[in-house]
Amino acid sequence: TTPTQTFEFQSEARQLLQLMIHSIYSNKDVFLRELVSNASDALDKLRLESFRDKDLNADTDDLHVEIAVDAEQRTLSVRDNGIGMSRDDVIALIGTIAKSGTAEFLKKVKESKDAAGSQDLIGQFGVGFYSSFMVADKVTLVSRRAGTSEGVRWESEGEGTYTIEPVEDAPQGTTVTLHLKPEDTEDHLFDYTSTHKVREIVKRYSDFITWPVKMVELHTEEGAEPALETVNSMKALWARSSSEVEQSEYNEFYKHISHDWNDPLETFRIQAEGTFEYQALLFIPSQAPLDLFMRERKRGVQLYVKRVFIMDDCEALMPEYLRFVKGVVDAQDLSLNVSREILQQDRQIRMIRRRLVKKVLQTVKTMMADNAENYAKFWTEFGKAVKEGLLDDVDNRDSILEIASFASTHDAEAPTTLKDYVARMKDGQSDIYYLTGESRSIIENSPHMEAFQAKGFEVLVLTDPIDEMWVDAVNGFDGKQFQSIAKGEVDLGKDEDEEKNAEAKKDFADLMTWMTTTLSENVKEVRLSSRLTTSPACIVGDSHDITPTLEKMYRAMGQ
Ligand code: ADP
Ligand code: MG
Repeated sequence: TTPTQTFEFQSEARQLLQLMIHSIYSNKDVFLRELVSNASDALDKLRLESFRDKDLNADTDDLHVEIAVDAEQRTLSVRDNGIGMSRDDVIALIGTIAKSGTAEFLKKVKESKDAAGSQDLIGQFGVGFYSSFMVADKVTLVSRRAGTSEGVRWESEGEGTYTIEPVEDAPQGTTVTLHLKPEDTEDHLFDYTSTHKVREIVKRYSDFITWPVKMVELHTEEGAEPALETVNSMKALWARSSSEVEQSEYNEFYKHISHDWNDPLETFRIQAEGTFEYQALLFIPSQAPLDLFMRERKRGVQLYVKRVFIMDDCEALMPEYLRFVKGVVDAQDLSLNVSREILQQDRQIRMIRRRLVKKVLQTVKTMMADNAENYAKFWTEFGKAVKEGLLDDVDNRDSILEIASFASTHDAEAPTTLKDYVARMKDGQSDIYYLTGESRSIIENSPHMEAFQAKGFEVLVLTDPIDEMWVDAVNGFDGKQFQSIAKGEVDLGKDEDEEKNAEAKKDFADLMTWMTTTLSENVKEVRLSSRLTTSPACIVGDSHDITPTLEKMYRAMGQ
């Protein structure tokens, strides 16, 4: 007798499963894409591990994915002979959802109520393995971690609990068997025991998978020997000429590597030839991931060496501020044993990285010129991250400023580029004016704004915390300095009557002296100013002072 243990799903996992069972996602075919994608990842991982650990007692001779359909039993199974999972792995990886942002995501789904809204959200989130429950009322997973002898069986109907039991002589790797929901006699589109259907889905979503995906039909009526058929072409997209590849193929590849369920916003490639040969296939997603600003955020550009997957999230290839860019770099001249540490030092990798960064910035610039709508989407999703580059990537500062846009007093609805701002600058205006603050309304109602508004000067409205930092770091744009309207003496043109000023100074001399003594503990100086039109007074920082917002930030960070 084998001890079978029953476990409860973690509560977030349970909620996601409920969403799947009640299937708010209309395109059910994608469950197969997810399972094949996991199987392919498992094969990649095994190959890597066997490079690193020569003593790993694993079988790597015939790595592949096998899909078996059985119309009689109404089952479909996806099997790989890859890395496999231990009992603890299964509990940790399949019974819980470690993905950051899950709780927020579920909250949004609950709030959205209508089905279409939820479907959109699921698309943004992606549910991987759990998508099996869109088409199955019971899922069995049998796995054995490569190099170990004990196998494990996991089984669940998706309703709150799952069981775990040990299995003897489980093959290396993982088999996921779906007990398909009763046939929908109305709708033959959803017959997942049809080889025709399965072939079509694999072709559509997983053709580029670098491992053979084989299909076999069990319990066929004739009782003939089941024949294995390889259904994918296994061709790396980046190795095919651009003219041969359809955008839909790029889209599916993007979904495989990014675990995103949406199409990318942009797709672009680099083919570098010569002494150091490499290909890159890169994507800009259409939506920022929920964890864009979380520290543990992962997965950007993958590194391949001569078609062999080496690592995810290759930080040596893309700077932090472009962490949202997804894709693959396939280098021809690196060793298969490269480590992250070696990569950080590698001159050639640094050259690739420089080229990738330029290409990303150039792609956005082109998007700006050719597709304003996509550019606006891009900037809304990723602008905040890109602006970090103004601090981190001094070499590309000018290019980043060129592709940036900012809220401004010119138009409350649409942000402006710096180029457009400069084009609208008034005669005699030498600086680009800005004001930082927590929100647009705080900035608009600031007394600092009065004279600028009254005189018709445009002011950039900067509300991201990062804005506080880069405005001090950059040297200006197109020869114009950035000038905070809350700092120092801002010259608003010499239309003030000098005489009138002198007179006013005399009139208010007593008041000034009184204020200076009374406020001496709190301010450096009290000045008569032409900045204000309606407010009686305002506090101004020195040119070199940090702003109140920045002060607050430092304080929050405990400095
Ligand atoms: P994701 O692939 O985005 O991580 P999934 O829900 O698809 O999310 O899978 C969750 C995790 O379960 C994977 O990250 C992997 O660690 C593990 N897993 C799933 N399928 C397999 C498999 N066939 N072999 C080994 N591990 C797997
Ligand atoms: Mg997956």
